[in-house]
Amino acid sequence: MEDEKHGEAHGMISDEIGQDVLKRIFFITERVIVFDGLDDVFEHIVKTSVMLTKAEAATIRVFDINTGKLAIVKGYGLSTGFLSQPPIKLGEGITGRVVLEGKPFSTEDVTTVPHCVHKELAKLEGIRAVMSVPLKTRENTIGCITVYRKQAEPFADHEMLLLNIFASQATEAVEKTRLLEELKKQAMFDPLTGVYNKNAILRELDAKIESARRHGYNTSIVFIDIDDFKKFNDTHGHLLGDKFLADFATLVKKCCRKGDLVGRFGGEEFLVIAPHTDKEGALKLAEKLRDAVSKHEFIGRDGYVHATLSAGVSSVPEDGLGMTDVLKKADDAMYQSKRSGKNCVTAAMSSNSLH
Ligand code: GH3
Ligand code: MG
Ligand code: MG
Repeated sequence: MEDEKHGEAHGMISDEIGQDVLKRIFFITERVIVFDGLDDVFEHIVKTSVMLTKAEAATIRVFDINTGKLAIVKGYGLSTGFLSQPPIKLGEGITGRVVLEGKPFSTEDVTTVPHCVHKELAKLEGIRAVMSVPLKTRENTIGCITVYRKQAEPFADHEMLLLNIFASQATEAVEKTRLLEELKKQAMFDPLTGVYNKNAILRELDAKIESARRHGYNTSIVFIDIDDFKKFNDTHGHLLGDKFLADFATLVKKCCRKGDLVGRFGGEEFLVIAPHTDKEGALKLAEKLRDAVSKHEFIGRDGYVHATLSAGVSSVPEDGLGMTDVLKKADDAMYQSKRSGKNCVTAAMSSNSLH
């Protein structure tokens, strides 16, 4: 026991601790882990950090680009009160400094650290020993992992080493998962309007129709085509045309319910899926959209301009049980609206247009 302490004091690790450290290093390097999103990565990081350092609790903080602050994104072994502390600024407190300076920090008793800003919270939580290591990428520091003990028992040098080794793995996992989520987002959403792209809205439609069929409820769609959009582009230019499409999509989303899905089907064509909605309900929605668009002031070259849409509505099960049928019915109904003079809504299989 004496030897162990002596060994560590000189920066060496005794055989017994060495074996234990090797086991823990093996644990973090041996496994290829497949994560189910960023939250899952954070969960793995806090749990592994506790296990590696024989701590009782851990948090991970990451830099939030929107607030410019460091927020706790996941905690383990800590009360909700502690975890809901407000985000901190870079350079503020223990963790803010760790991230700003990119250097680890360790203390035996956090209540004696002058620059600790949450001493009262730490006391309430019964936290004494704290160790925090930065999450560093090649270019910068994106956050930190912090581990906590309730006794004033300092974290050993080898525990800091272990947490540092793990931190570089953790950073890589966070960065890779973020990139993957960004790629997934790009593959699903239309960059100009922010609504689902054609592939994604078709996938959603397929799933919603399948679910409606299985559970025996109605689901409807509204197929929208902006009227005379070519003329808008010719008059106001392509840039304002793009701005029009983005504002149009925002307006459509605003008129929809929370469970409704909006997608851009093509250039100036949009599709709204209204789950659990019968044709009558979807016609009301389409009419609401037509009305809102016709009243909206879009930005034109010399001030505000008005625009209109034509829409077609179809429903499962009454217009078909498959995606192709329902889409075709809505598209045909939309063309009927065009033939009826535009700025109107038509229900599938019906020649009655609502102006
Ligand atoms: P209708 O009333 O019959 O629907 O006529 P329209 O002019 O709206 O329809 P048409 O299909 O003839 O033209 C669609 C126009 O939409 C032509 C194209 O330049 C424009 N468009 C398609 N995608 C985009 C885009 O991403 N940005 C802009 N600015 N315009 C686009
Ligand atoms: Mg069109
Ligand atoms: Mg059009």
